[in-house]
Amino acid sequence: MCDSLIARGDSVVCADNLSTGRRSNIAHLTTAPEFTFVRADVAAELPVAGPVDAVVHLASPASPPDYHRMPLETLAVGSRGTELALELAHRSGARFVLASTSEVYGDPLVHPQHEDYWGNVNPVGPRSIYDEAKRYAEAATAAYRRHLGTDTGVVRIFNTYGPRMRPHDGRVVTSFIAQALNGDPLTVYGDGSQTRSFCYVDDLVRGIVAMLDSAEPGPVNLGNPQERTVLELAALVLRLTGADSPVEFHPLPVDDPTRRRPVITRAQQVLGWSPLVSTEEGLARTVRYFRDRPDEVAAARAALAGGQLDGEPAVDRAAAA
Ligand code: UDP
Repeated sequence: MCDSLIARGDSVVCADNLSTGRRSNIAHLTTAPEFTFVRADVAAELPVAGPVDAVVHLASPASPPDYHRMPLETLAVGSRGTELALELAHRSGARFVLASTSEVYGDPLVHPQHEDYWGNVNPVGPRSIYDEAKRYAEAATAAYRRHLGTDTGVVRIFNTYGPRMRPHDGRVVTSFIAQALNGDPLTVYGDGSQTRSFCYVDDLVRGIVAMLDSAEPGPVNLGNPQERTVLELAALVLRLTGADSPVEFHPLPVDDPTRRRPVITRAQQVLGWSPLVSTEEGLARTVRYFRDRPDEVAAARAALAGGQLDGEPAVDRAAAA
């Protein structure tokens, strides 16, 4: 996002507490006079001086192992963090865009998912820290628009991947690529028949920038409708890496959505946006990025082994109790 805005001549203040982000991802920008990095937890403060034309609120852990490790922080950044970002936009007269998520649809009973579907979320399940925080963030954004007249827009982001993710991120694309490159088994949760639709990062960023430049309130789904089962993704990663790793089956996390595919008609109509990068091409680019960083990928080995990432509940303890 920062690269894209700087490239078109905007000045950017990037605020991040680096709880899941990495300074190295923006290292090439730090010499640009138009770029400022502020290390801050936006759930506590959003210290931005000077005039602001636009606020994009992307802050939140997004990988399930990360939000399980930081449950209260995830709730805080979706609630208080969203309010602080909205306040900044409102007092600056700026356009505000919220990065919401396909997780607001929960384990969807309607397939594929269009924006008018209200979702099927377990409010007390292990994923609710993320899902409900984002649902609250949407409600707060709608309230600022409705009651205060703030110029807001909501995008619902479906599974996104690409270069600059951490090999130990824990989401399926990076896990499979790192496992394949390390010659380790690919950890498939459940029987691998659950589906996702994977969008390449450059396509997503183009969609968010289009939302920023529009007056559209949304919500607007942003995702690539090429739907695949997790087993099909594993096979594709093995083909692209040339690895002969076996597939290893592990328990399905509690409330793991069984299927997910965006309807993107609204994005096409109001933003003129469609994804351009096929899953094969995007995965090939991501594999190249990881191949160029063998030490980082090797270092992720222990974290990815056995499909048990730190903080991820292997069973739903509340339900078990
Ligand atoms: N998944 C998997 N193996 C992994 C990580 C994830 O089979 O090592 C599955 C996970 O259970 C889910 C899908 O892949 O069905 C996508 O998971 P991810 O964490 O990437 O995203 P999300 O669940 O938030 O869509």
